[in-house]
Amino acid sequence: LPEYAFIGRSNVGKSSLINMLTDRKSLAKTSGRPGKTQLINHFIINDNWFLVDLPGYGYARVSKTSKKAFQKFITNYFEQRQQLVSAFVLIDIRHKPQPVDLDFMQYLGEREIPFSIIFTKADKLKPKAIERHVGDYCNQLLQFWEELPPYFVTSSSKKIGQEEVLGFISETNEEIEGLRNN
Ligand code: GDP
Repeated sequence: LPEYAFIGRSNVGKSSLINMLTDRKSLAKTSGRPGKTQLINHFIINDNWFLVDLPGYGYARVSKTSKKAFQKFITNYFEQRQQLVSAFVLIDIRHKPQPVDLDFMQYLGEREIPFSIIFTKADKLKPKAIERHVGDYCNQLLQFWEELPPYFVTSSSKKIGQEEVLGFISETNEEIEGLRNN
């Protein structure tokens, strides 16, 4: 099955987003506490794709050694990904572009791993501010890349962006299916 990986800094709203996308409150447990999602979780959605819930990166308060171990864990996943179609990098829309996120996207890009950006918690900003923050991000990315990745503005608490993300996934799945049959 085609696989889509969800990743972002701890507390970015990943569990909430996964719950929104899957419509099952109990599926991924949310927490107000950073670092709750520790291991890789797989969920089969509609019998036709895998949602991979990767642990959060960029904890502020962990030792260098555990940061290293952690990076290894994540890079192992990306190096062994057989079915991975695309990664979704989650970004809290309230924050200015952060080096840890930009570095991670750089890492994906260098390995030619397709990714999209999901901006989270859009309900926390006014439309003008959303536009500005997304624009800042795009400008940062365009310093490294010629093209922008697909991106989605979402809010799990207001159910914004659910259809767009799921639509993107099913379109991509159809494309893959089409390529397979040709
Ligand atoms: P994770 O650590 O990335 O899995 O993040 P969680 O989904 O556990 O969310 C972290 C915190 O952000 C929790 O307090 C959530 O209630 C809050 N949160 C998550 N998504 C949203 C959102 O769309 N809007 C708002 N206002 N808060 C959110």
